[in-house]
Amino acid sequence: MKPLYLVSACLAGARTRFDGTARPDPQIVQLVREGRAIPICPEQLGGLATPRPASEILSGDGSDVVEGRARVITSEGQDVTTAYLVGARETLRLAEDWQVAAAILKARSPSCGSFEIYDGSFQGRLRPGLGVTAVLLKQAGLAVFCEKTWRDIQAATHMDEGEARL
Ligand code: SF4
Repeated sequence: MKPLYLVSACLAGARTRFDGTARPDPQIVQLVREGRAIPICPEQLGGLATPRPASEILSGDGSDVVEGRARVITSEGQDVTTAYLVGARETLRLAEDWQVAAAILKARSPSCGSFEIYDGSFQGRLRPGLGVTAVLLKQAGLAVFCEKTWRDIQAATHMDEGEARL
């Protein structure tokens, strides 16, 4: 049986981003069409509306948020840390329940980012680090990729997604 993936809903074409848009990735959309990936949006699972104000992590990354050392703040100054943590925990619960093989998450998001995120200045600047959901999934032992890393792995190995060694 081919592995099942958890994917960011916005990569699958759902208009779940803060500004009500999607960022469909053809490979991810195809995985969903084939029944091999389940789209999920941690921020919506955490109870946040769409559209919603942009958010960034202040003074840290997702691991700092999980440890209580940093907060997630909207561009309007509202603290949405609790919603981010609730969404991340619910995403992890579902990932474990569905026994997914890996997660392919949207790059740079304060929830889904898996190697760099916006730095909290709302100036478009990036810093190394993970989003809140990506941290929880990784801490639980799940492999987490962004859409680009995923494409690079597929191209480098010339393998079908289902044959990739995770
Ligand atoms: Fe996409 Fe993740 Fe942001 Fe939801 S939280 S819109 S899935 S990047």
